[in-house]
Amino acid sequence: MRKGILFIVSGFAGAGKGTVTKQIVKEDEHLKLSISATTRDMRNGEAEGVDYFYVTKDEFQRKIKNGELLEYAKYGDNYYGTPRDYVKKMLDEGNDVLLEIEVLGAAKIKASLPKTVRIFVTPPTAEELKNRLVGRGRDSAEDITRRLNRAVDEAEDIDDYDYLLVNDTVEQCVKDLHSIVEAERMKVKRQVSFISAIKTQLQELNKEE
Ligand code: 5GP
Repeated sequence: MRKGILFIVSGFAGAGKGTVTKQIVKEDEHLKLSISATTRDMRNGEAEGVDYFYVTKDEFQRKIKNGELLEYAKYGDNYYGTPRDYVKKMLDEGNDVLLEIEVLGAAKIKASLPKTVRIFVTPPTAEELKNRLVGRGRDSAEDITRRLNRAVDEAEDIDDYDYLLVNDTVEQCVKDLHSIVEAERMKVKRQVSFISAIKTQLQELNKEE
């Protein structure tokens, strides 16, 4: 059986990554969204096990110690980490897995799993990014400034990514993300077992003739 492909989606806070990743997994049953653990508080409209697994700082430390996290990073005052078992199980079962994580965690994963495909999502302009952060009414003015400052640093890492997605409308962005997922699935290097099977079939066929 083909082993799954690991996709990472990163992007500035306010780029719309969450909406896009949640939508694409609804449309593609072989693509599974990993749910991270975080020490941050649950926001309005979020739910345990849907957006994150919300844990205390002690629980998070314990997870690190037990090797339960594939990677983790500090963002603002909080920790975020990817559960190792879930990702491994899904990939082993032949599903593709999507992680929505920030740039440092993405770099760590790429270093240990080089076949990982990294996709960066950005709004069309910086002004639009600011408008979206203000418009969603979720963050304080200080938070928005902090997130915009962080975006300057994150932009420096875009060059390391495999794909850049401009999120103008959610619908188009989901479609574009789907094109990337489909193209990666069709790469020759990802279809080793199919290629070997067709070679065997051809040899058998020729023996029979
Ligand atoms: P938020 O608090 O807005 O949900 O997320 C803050 C940042 O943490 C986002 O850039 C998000 O992609 C990132 N993030 C979420 N989960 C993980 C994770 O498991 N690992 C890492 N490294 N970053 C994460």
